[in-house]
Amino acid sequence: MKLLDGKKLSVEIKDEMAGEVSEIVKSGQRPPHLAAVLVGSNPASTFYVKSKVKNCKKIGFESTLIEKSADTSEAELLGIIDQLNQRDDIDGYIVQLPLPDHIDEERVNLAIDHRKDVDGFHPVNFGRMAQGMPAFLPATPYGILMMLERYDIDTTGKHCVVVGRSNIVGTPMSILMSRKNKPGNCTVTLTHSRTKDIGAELRRADIVIAAIGKPNFVTADMIKEGAVVIDVGINRVEDSSKKKGYRIVGDVDFDNVSPKCSYITPVPGGVGLMTVTALLKNTLHARNKSIYS
Ligand code: NDP
Repeated sequence: MKLLDGKKLSVEIKDEMAGEVSEIVKSGQRPPHLAAVLVGSNPASTFYVKSKVKNCKKIGFESTLIEKSADTSEAELLGIIDQLNQRDDIDGYIVQLPLPDHIDEERVNLAIDHRKDVDGFHPVNFGRMAQGMPAFLPATPYGILMMLERYDIDTTGKHCVVVGRSNIVGTPMSILMSRKNKPGNCTVTLTHSRTKDIGAELRRADIVIAAIGKPNFVTADMIKEGAVVIDVGINRVEDSSKKKGYRIVGDVDFDNVSPKCSYITPVPGGVGLMTVTALLKNTLHARNKSIYS
C-alpha cells in the first residue's frame, strides 16, 4: 500500500506556482490576486478561508479577505459580488459556503462572473467541464485529478465508484472520471443515499472516491484487493485523548481498508490540502487567462 501524500504533493505544486509567480513579477506584471468573501463566523468556514489566504501569501499571490457579519443582507452581498466582478485587479474570488439561511446560495453563485469563478461552481463552468471545454474545475475534484496524475495512476478502462453526488464533489468527480481524458476514461458508477447496495457497487471498484461526510462509512469488506481509495470526507469524531476533544477522520475506515489498497489518501493530509492547491491553481489560470482570454 502506498500513501497518496497530499501534504508532500501540495508543497511541490505550490513551489512550482511560486516560481511561476516570481517570473510574472520579474516581467513587471502584478501577481495573481484572489479575493475571498466570508459572511458570518462559522468556525470551519473561518478556518478554511484563513488557510486559503495564508496559502496565497506563501506563494506570492495577493489576497483580499472581505469579512461580513452574519446579518449581512443578500442585497449587500450581491453588491460586493458586483464590485468584485468589475475590479480588474482581482483575477478570481470565492464566496465561502455555507451562507446564512436568509441568503440564497444559488442566486449568489449565479451572480459571480464565471470568468472569475475560481471555485468552479458556476453553471457555465460546470457545463463547460461536462462538455470537455476549458473551464475552472471545482477545486476538490481538480485536486484529486492532480493527485492521480502526479502519482501516475492509470485510470483508463478502470471502474470508478464515486460515493456521494454533491454539486461540488461527487457529481463533478463522476463526470471528470468518465471524460475522454487522462486521468479519466473510467467506467463510472455514481452512488448516493438511495443506492440499494453500496457495498456491492464498491466491491467491483478499481478506484473508489468517497465523499459523503459519514465517518468510517467505507469498510474493508467493501474494498477489492489492490483498489485505489480516495477519501474526501472530513468528519469530527469525539476523542478525549486530544486536547480539542475530537479528531478528524475521513469517510473510509483507514486502518482496516488501507492494507487492501494499492494507494490510499490519509485524512488529514490527503485531499483537503490538494483542494486548497487546486484553488490557487485556478487563480493562476485566471491570472494567465489560460481558460478565458
Ligand atoms: P454533501 O452533504 O453535500 O453530500 C453528501 C452526499 O453523500 C449526498 O449525495 C448524499 O446522498 C450522500 N450520502 C449521505 N449519506 C449517505 C449514505 N448513508 N449512503 C450513501 N450516500 C450518502 O457533502 P459534500 O460533497 O459537500 O462533502 C462530503 C464530505 O466531503 C464531507 O465530509 C465534507 O466535509 C468533505 N469535503 C471535503 C473537502 C476536502 O477538501 N477534502 C471538500 C468538500 C467536502 P443524497 O444526494 O442522496 O442525499
